[in-house]
Amino acid sequence: MAAKLFIVSAPSGAGKTTLVNKLLKRFDDLVFSISHTTRLPREGEVHGKDYFFTDEAQFMEMADAGQMLEWAQVHGNCYGTSAAFIQERLSAGQSVLLDIDVQGGRQIMDCGLDSVSIFIMAPSLTVLEQRLRGRGTDTEEVIRKRLENAKKEIAQKSFYTHVVVNDVLEEAISELIGIVEQETAN
Ligand code: 5GP
Repeated sequence: MAAKLFIVSAPSGAGKTTLVNKLLKRFDDLVFSISHTTRLPREGEVHGKDYFFTDEAQFMEMADAGQMLEWAQVHGNCYGTSAAFIQERLSAGQSVLLDIDVQGGRQIMDCGLDSVSIFIMAPSLTVLEQRLRGRGTDTEEVIRKRLENAKKEIAQKSFYTHVVVNDVLEEAISELIGIVEQETAN
């Protein structure tokens, strides 16, 4: 398998986490890029597995020193990808999957590394809203903010190499597997 960077972006509620986890299980040589974030850990999240949880001073120190391949503010917190983390994996011949927002995705597309970008969408904004409400975890204000953000992200989907609509989960997974197989074939 040729080592590649896979950028996966999606508005919240599009089902990205489920799809990403299935892809990572399917390919031994595809590893998850563990980002740095200033967000506090959610219940069950593990430092060094889900994220490197970092305070703002440490995060900005890394960013200012040019150690982030990309970084952005998302929903009020900073998120970034360590350049060293990515280089180590690519040098070891592994492909890396970056689960990052559109701002970060576009920075990676422009950074000169060979990357494949995938945008995952819900079939419609109505379905996206239903999914966000169905979680039952967010306040009305948070849901509205996420929907506004989703609209802005969807408006940039044309920058991505592949757009996958997550209507039927199994079909979306097959499509993603096909993309990874095809992109790493040579
Ligand atoms: P969450 O806080 O729900 O884990 O992630 C919120 C958003 O931040 C998601 O859209 C996720 O893709 C994005 N994100 C996670 N890590 C990074 C990163 O390293 N860089 C950027 N730009 N976005 C990230």
